[in-house]
This record gives sequence, C-alpha cells and structure tokens, in this order.
Amino acid sequence: MADKRIGFIGAGQMAEALARGFINKGVCKAKHMWATDPVDERKEVFRSFGTNPVNGNIEVVTSSDVIFIAVKPQYVSVVLREVRPHLEDRHTIVSIAAGITLQSLKDAAGDGIRLVRVMPNTPCLVGETAAAMCLGGKADDSDAQLVQRLFDSVGKIYRVDEKLLSAVTGLSGSGPAYIFLMIEALADGGVRSGLPRDIANQLAAQTVLGSAKMVLQTGKHCGALKDMTCSPAGTTIAGIHELEKAGTRAAFMNAVYAATQRADELA
Ligand code: NAD
Repeated sequence: MADKRIGFIGAGQMAEALARGFINKGVCKAKHMWATDPVDERKEVFRSFGTNPVNGNIEVVTSSDVIFIAVKPQYVSVVLREVRPHLEDRHTIVSIAAGITLQSLKDAAGDGIRLVRVMPNTPCLVGETAAAMCLGGKADDSDAQLVQRLFDSVGKIYRVDEKLLSAVTGLSGSGPAYIFLMIEALADGGVRSGLPRDIANQLAAQTVLGSAKMVLQTGKHCGALKDMTCSPAGTTIAGIHELEKAGTRAAFMNAVYAATQRADELA
C-alpha cells in the first residue's frame, strides 16, 4: 500500500476529504499523491497539504497507480475517454460518481481496466463515511483490498453487488439528510420544551452520535438497546408511544425505499 501512488481527477470536496483522510491515517504519503482540477484554487488547496497538483488529467494518470474519478457524474465519461490511451494494467480506477454504472465506466475507459465503483456519503468530509463498493472490468480481490484499506481511513466500506448500489444510495447515500432532519426535529422538541437552541442542537447531535456508537460497539439489537432505555411507565416509553403513533418506523422505511427507487430511475 505504502508504495501505491494515488491520483485525483477532480480536486473538489470529496477528493479533498479522501486525500486528507488517507494522509492523516498514514495509508499514503502526501508526496505520493497527484491531483488536478480546472479551478486553480482547488489545486492550491491540494498544494497546501503537501500533495502534487498538476495541470492535466493525463499527468495524474501517468503519475499514479490508483486513480480516483472525483468529478461530477456528467463529466466522468469525458474524463475517462481523455485518459483512456494512457491506462495500463497497473491502474485501478475508482469512481465515486453517483449513478455512473460499471458498464458506463467500461464503455468510457475500455476493456481490461480494473474498475471499482464506490458510493460514499457526505460524512466522508469528517472521516466517518458509510460507503459501499462493487468491482468491474479486470478488478479482483486485490483491488477490493486496496480500496478497503483506503476507505477504512475515512470511515467504513462494504462490498456489494452493483445491483444493490441503489439501495445503498437510498440508505447511506441519502441517509445523512434523514438524520439531519431528525436532529433538527429533536432540537426543536428541546426548544419547545424550554431548552436554549444551541444546547438543544448539541444534545440532539451528541445523542445521535452516542446512540450510533452503542449500536456499533455493543453489537446488540437496536430493539434490545431501546428496551434498556424504557423503564415501566417512564418518560422514554411515553416518547416512544408518540413516535409509534406517528408511524416513524414506516416513514424511515418508506424514505429509504423511495430513494432507492429514485436511484434506480436515475441509473
Ligand atoms: P465538487 O464539485 O466539489 O468537485 C468536483 C471537482 O471536479 C470540481 O473541483 C471541478 O472543478 C472538477 N472538475 C470539473 N471538470 C473537470 C475535469 N474535466 N477534469 C478534472 N476536474 C474537473 O464535487 P464533489 O461533491 O466532490 O463530488 C465529486 C463526485 O463525488 C461526484 O461525482 C459526486 O456524485 C460524488 N459524490 C459526492 C458526494 C457528496 O456528498 N459530495 C457523495 C457521494 C458521491
């Protein structure tokens, strides 16, 4: 891994989050990273943390082994067709573009290329992404391990069949927005009950963070953790009763399902 050189075509928000995560966790040295972007300020950002900004996509490809395609989805094909003549067996192409299929990547990059499609989410920006990947072209387990190792430094990544990526989009891709809405609503409830807004926001966000950690660290079923919090005739079961009356579970399930269907429509 330490000898792999990493390139970014598109040096925007996601590329920066990934690059900083890889460097901070020591999975790749800044001097072994290349990045390009038509916007000079973005290249300067990459220069500021020690990577090598270059002037074109082809230079990123010739300098790197693992190439992140981190442009907006509509530019992915154009970029891949541009660099296609320079792709070699040593390259692993990792596309993080939403909705761009392995088949589209293969059509643009050509046969015999190692292709990995990743669906990250916005908490990548704070090193806590929940991501999924699928492999295409000539990619094999060694490419999966490589991408796993890289994404372990910015959160968690799981391998799925490509047909499940829409469901991943509906759950973890869109999920941060559901949780932001939930945190805002919890805070509103706190303010409605007399808390100052800033304290209500902090308590709501920290409650979500702590609860998520309990799920991940204890491995206990969410129902069991919920039961542990509900004493007979207590405060929490009174709150839970209101959530159940409002159909909260069905609303979350429907949200994930609707977003999955929309992702399928857009693919
Ligand atoms: P961004 O706009 O911050 O970054 C894209 C960068 O690509 C820009 O800096 C732009 O100047 C550059 N660019 C445009 N044309 C280019 C070209 N021809 N060659 C090289 N660079 C070019 O966008 P982002 O939020 O970082 O998203 C990047 C990709 O990540 C998108 O495809 C998006 O679907 C995917 N993604 C983003 C998120 C997210 O939460 N932001 C989540 C999942 C997936």
